[in-house]
Amino acid sequence: MTKKIKNFIYKIINNDLINRKYQKIITRFPPEPNGYLHIGHVKSIYINFKIAKYFKGKCNLRFDDTNPSTEKKKYINSIKKDIKWLGFKWHKKEKYTSNYFHIYYMYAKKLIKNKLAYVDELSTSEIKKYRGTLTKPGIDSPYRNRDVNSNLLLFKKMKKGYFKEGQMCLRAKINMQSKNITLRDPVLYRIKYSKHPKTKKKWCIYPMYDFAHCIADSIEHVTHSICTLEFQNNKYLYNWILKNLNIQHRPKQYEFSKLNITYNISSKRKINQLIKKNIVTGWNDPRLMTLSGMRNKGYTSKSIINFCKSLGISKQESIIDLNVLEKYLKKDLNIIAPRIMGIINPFKIICTNIKNNYLWNIKVSNHPINKKMGNRLIIFSREIYIEKKDFKKFFFSKKKKLIKNKIRLKYAGLIKPQKIIKNKNNKILYLECKFYKKNIYKNINIIHWLSTKNLLKTKIKFYYKLFNYPNPNIKKKYLSLINKKSLKIKYGYIEKSILKNKHKIFQFERIGYFKINKITHKKHIYLNQIISLTYKQ
Ligand code: ATP
Ligand code: MG
Repeated sequence: MTKKIKNFIYKIINNDLINRKYQKIITRFPPEPNGYLHIGHVKSIYINFKIAKYFKGKCNLRFDDTNPSTEKKKYINSIKKDIKWLGFKWHKKEKYTSNYFHIYYMYAKKLIKNKLAYVDELSTSEIKKYRGTLTKPGIDSPYRNRDVNSNLLLFKKMKKGYFKEGQMCLRAKINMQSKNITLRDPVLYRIKYSKHPKTKKKWCIYPMYDFAHCIADSIEHVTHSICTLEFQNNKYLYNWILKNLNIQHRPKQYEFSKLNITYNISSKRKINQLIKKNIVTGWNDPRLMTLSGMRNKGYTSKSIINFCKSLGISKQESIIDLNVLEKYLKKDLNIIAPRIMGIINPFKIICTNIKNNYLWNIKVSNHPINKKMGNRLIIFSREIYIEKKDFKKFFFSKKKKLIKNKIRLKYAGLIKPQKIIKNKNNKILYLECKFYKKNIYKNINIIHWLSTKNLLKTKIKFYYKLFNYPNPNIKKKYLSLINKKSLKIKYGYIEKSILKNKHKIFQFERIGYFKINKITHKKHIYLNQIISLTYKQ
């Protein structure tokens, strides 16, 4: 291994290869198809796929589909689409935990026969009560010592649909007094009558995550089972199951810390709440940090991957500032986005020394560095728009007097204010200026502008933070922390040349990056802001 080893998981894997513990590294990304992927999942995807690539191994995509009440085909499809969009390729065909349902059933019977599992008739709430707490040991279920044959018969009846959901379950017989609560006779199988997206109505008993995961990892010859920190205690159960079933290939589990980003929620259950309460429009709402939402907003997969690359792998719980992710977004957009001029809050300027029919076609480049993006023509004429904010900043004193400073219009000449024109009610209508084509002055402020002869009207959505609080993940009442002004709609102007450009993402000079959502046959343009530059509206 000549390359520098980066972090603890890489070091472990490297040693395992050096010590010939494994010939080939196999990792897996195991999403539950009960929602869309979010930015947190990308960290896991990145780690698992990159490890496989780095060590010339394989990474499986395995749908952890053991709960038919919440899982759907549409989630399976969206997850596959998102991983492809990120640029990763899983090994061969995607896998499903449900492919192995018959094997789990066989292993469950083996545990029963070895007196290591029993059918319990306690209700879910009783099981919880009997389990105890961190300070209180658990109590044995009255059904714990049922004989093997009765257990086998009941388990068979569970499978055949004799019982209602929650009436019976299969539990491992480990230790109700264990310090690790996960080991206090965990449930291995439960009854569910919902239709499964893959196996339909074939089964009505389903293995729990803890029973399913380790066995699936083993069947697929996964070498390193990498997951997030909340599974630390489950590791003992993972090992217990493989050992007690006498399964030969026993992968090892390693944990890393979850990715959290400020002002954002990354839990499928909570995102679902936001959708159900109509706070967002769906899983792909651009205000969400689901991959489909981010893609909709205009995030590039490259920027997300570069961000993940910068994170590294550790066990340190942390929350990353949204600005860090946005820094990577801006960096990528700066390279790929052609420039264009747009005005969000228009303010009219009339250049009185320019004739009405005067048109000056100015050739400008579409990108300051990438000349391959070509040139376009912009028009200068007697009437132009500038941003209202620039008018106030450069031409209007605090005492509301006109400042007669010269300003440079980007790509064109200079303007010098002459007179503010108001209506009867003293409302400012426009500003009269003199235009100077000769660009002889230096160190003059530069602003963007648009000729009234070269513009199209556009409807723009501006998205802001969805939460007012930096870490809504840790708040129970996260719904009360919603920023009610997370979406604003404005009407602005944009250069006509946008119609001729094939790109979908543009930089409005000095304002920000924007994505075209739709152009109608009547040339109505719908945009959304991806991210603003420092210039604030
Ligand atoms: P959620 O709480 O959003 O439902 P989950 O962990 O239940 O998340 P899964 O579909 O089970 O979602 O996750 C698939 C993989 O992604 C798991 O290995 C899980 O550990 C990992 N993962 C989930 N959330 C994050 C996160 N925020 N950061 C890093 N990895 C994550
Ligand atoms: Mg889960």
